[in-house]
Amino acid sequence: MLYTSTRDKTVHVTSAEAITHGISADGGLFVPESIPQLTADDLQRLAKLDYKGRAKEILSLYLTDFSKEEIDRCVEGAYADGKFSSPAVAPMVKLADGSHILELWRGPTCAFKDMALQLLPHLLTVSAEKAAGGRQIVILVATSGDTGKAALEGFRDVPNTQIMVFYPSEGVSPMQKLQMATQEGSNVAVCAIEGNFDDAQTGVKKIFTDPLVAEKLAQKNKMFSSANSINWGRLVPQVVYYVSAYCDLLAKGEIQNGDPIHVVVPTGNFGNILAAYYAREMGVPIDRLICASNRNKVLTDFIETGVYDRRRDFYCTSSPSMDILISSNLERLLFLLSGMDDAQTRTWMQNLSADGVYDVGEAMRNKIQAVFNGGYCDEDATKELIGSVYRSEGYLCDTHTAVAVQVYRDFRASTGDETPAVIASTASPYKFSRTVLAAVAPEVQAADEFAMVDALYEKTGFPCPKQLLELKNKQVRFTDICTRDTMEEAVLRAML
Ligand SMILES: *Cc1c(COP(=O)(O)O)cnc(C)c1O
Repeated sequence: MLYTSTRDKTVHVTSAEAITHGISADGGLFVPESIPQLTADDLQRLAKLDYKGRAKEILSLYLTDFSKEEIDRCVEGAYADGKFSSPAVAPMVKLADGSHILELWRGPTCAFKDMALQLLPHLLTVSAEKAAGGRQIVILVATSGDTGKAALEGFRDVPNTQIMVFYPSEGVSPMQKLQMATQEGSNVAVCAIEGNFDDAQTGVKKIFTDPLVAEKLAQKNKMFSSANSINWGRLVPQVVYYVSAYCDLLAKGEIQNGDPIHVVVPTGNFGNILAAYYAREMGVPIDRLICASNRNKVLTDFIETGVYDRRRDFYCTSSPSMDILISSNLERLLFLLSGMDDAQTRTWMQNLSADGVYDVGEAMRNKIQAVFNGGYCDEDATKELIGSVYRSEGYLCDTHTAVAVQVYRDFRASTGDETPAVIASTASPYKFSRTVLAAVAPEVQAADEFAMVDALYEKTGFPCPKQLLELKNKQVRFTDICTRDTMEEAVLRAML
């Protein structure tokens, strides 16, 4: 299996090269040249395995230049017993309306990013041995809140790696900020930036592709790689949990083999839902992919009109990890749906960066609508949903998950479609205690973040991850703030 670039089909690299480099030199994203297939028998067989067993099988279909031993070692390291607070790794909870909440936040940093970022350092270390000639890997991350912490935790003290994270100073929740500012490890750095996530992401991309910076790193026998979801090594672990969710429904007798399901994903950078699309293309009987946005509904509008238009106001919402106007991974979908048309994909992406808008036309819009539904949920509805699910089911959703549940309810109300649905739940509610507490107990006053956590626990009894409770006693190590113009200096200072 080789990988090509969404902007240049003459590129052919191994998975180790794709993972080591993160992004193609032409600015495109790496995608596998073909999509491996799973039959109904395969799914039946996988249903008998545990999460790690399923992960090994799926990964081996995509990472064909890894040996079986290497894949085993990566998976065993990533999902080792005790790292996730559920033996199932990604357990499912059934709600009264029959939908299945897929809890992807049982890892060390309490957001779904752990599902991939516990594995990526292992994949990258093996890849770099094959493809980086012994150079040290420097990871740069732009985060809307959760990726940064998950990447720091994944890469901390991993030999031969360094990591630096940029987050928007006003764009993350207090808990997210504290998680990053207190990060431990000898190879980590964290810096806030004045601006929003798109500023951070654009800045990182610029440093990443600057030949002068690359030269300076090379002199120290170092090279950049990326832990953002543009890296294929982030996406392939996410494909696993959609296959695994289908297998779990089979194993529990919730569905018969071959029955369709829908998948609902609260979406920002389009990575998580793209992984579901890959699972669908592999042959998992996923019918509709429902893309849920918050008030930054650039994707809802795109799915409806075929016009991607980022020239709009940016809102800071209570679901900050979805406050994104440039969904990088959409590029991969466009490349696939256009029949791997690299020239066309390049043009759309050039239009986006030059004019802030592109129009994929009617034929493409129809192809998108044949698979995807889009919907969005505003701030009031998010809060109301959290309250109503808690009151009726005793279940506590975080703000991102709430957006997805509400969009799913809207979909079901407007279509009458009762196909079983898997809803991706992407964070622990305790990462967003202010909004969640206000939703379930508006009468409670709490002075600070930890008082809110305590109040939420007292009110609901819903378990609070110990990693979040422990933050209270951790020392703040990182307080730097930079601007888009001083990011490069900050990187060179910390990483050289
Ligand atoms: C990152 C994140 C999302 C968005 O996922 P994408 O892959 O960027 O679409 C949603 N919810 C939470 C909690 C996240 O951390």
